Amino acid sequence: MGIADQAPPYVRGISPYQPGKPISELAREMGFDAAAIVKLASNENPLGMSPQAKSAISRAALDAARYPDGNGFALKAALSAFTGVQPGQIVLGNGSNDVLELVARAFLKAGDEAVMSAHAFAVYPLATLAVGATPVQVPALEFGHDLAAMAAAVTPRTRVVFVANPNNPTGTFVSGAQLEAFIGALPGDVLVVLDEAYTEYLGEADRYDSIAWLDRFPNLLICRTFSKAYGLAGLRVGYGLGSGAVIDLLNRVRQPFNVNALALAAATAALADREFVARSAQLNQRGMVQLTTAFAEMGLRWIPSRGNFVTVEVDDGAAVNAGLLRRGVIVRPIAGYGMPEWLRVSIGLPEENARFIDALRRVLADA
Ligand SMILES: *Cc1c(COP(=O)(O)O)cnc(C)c1O
Repeated sequence: MGIADQAPPYVRGISPYQPGKPISELAREMGFDAAAIVKLASNENPLGMSPQAKSAISRAALDAARYPDGNGFALKAALSAFTGVQPGQIVLGNGSNDVLELVARAFLKAGDEAVMSAHAFAVYPLATLAVGATPVQVPALEFGHDLAAMAAAVTPRTRVVFVANPNNPTGTFVSGAQLEAFIGALPGDVLVVLDEAYTEYLGEADRYDSIAWLDRFPNLLICRTFSKAYGLAGLRVGYGLGSGAVIDLLNRVRQPFNVNALALAAATAALADREFVARSAQLNQRGMVQLTTAFAEMGLRWIPSRGNFVTVEVDDGAAVNAGLLRRGVIVRPIAGYGMPEWLRVSIGLPEENARFIDALRRVLADA
């Protein structure tokens, strides 16, 4: 037996996460100029980040020989003021992916189950499998979370339920009222992870105050990120909001310095720039109209999305993706999510969206 055989079978059985193709990789493979490539593959903010976050990074870089504040005092204070929860109810993560992994490490072990929807964010099954627990993927309802079926899938073995709202990669959304009823009906000893990575993109009519539920539901953990509307994906910062008892457990299993100094400084500044976040959401709304109007013209079916991306049916996702790559456009094939006929496209700047639409028309015409 070789060294690789020594890892537990549940680790050897994991299929790695497939990220969006980096611009530099496509440039290398195809001999393209990186500046001519359009990447709409990872739900990044096409406006970049707030100028205030950029200045904060420059200042923090000067002091990067020092360890970061392992407790993230300043960012937690800012988040506490922003959300109204106590600093002791906040855990910081190296991206919200990190928070999801802390949940798995703190709450799941071999024999336990985590309930999640089919076509939900890939990190839920990955984090569950990495600790030897069992992901229970509940069939979707019109590509979204079937909350009734998920509640019915909860057994005495269930320790965690993951809900992404809006969901990635389908963009589906369940109302605040539906969610609140769902959480209230679950056993109090099951942790509900409500992943709100795209919450800043919700329109006025869809907004709901999940933070207000924390008082009633000590088994609720809300996860949010600075990677999307705040434009800090490359720095890796996310956070979880929950009861003090849950947050205390997550803090026990995290790395002492899991969020780096530049990320802490940038996130604190980015949180304060509400104008940038509002502008990002507005640009997203216009881009969503631009893309879905073009899909309608092309006779393509798409899944109505509340996120900063939209998933469109193209029949042969792999072939259409290859055609788009040859035209310098990177989107995300989602065969790994059980949707090989679909492609997920992030909303970009108007000219990036137009480049994608033009490339898609040409690729479909050639097929
Ligand atoms: C992008 C995304 C995240 C955020 O990941 P980070 O680690 O914070 O970059 C979390 N959940 C969902 C559903 C996402 O799509």
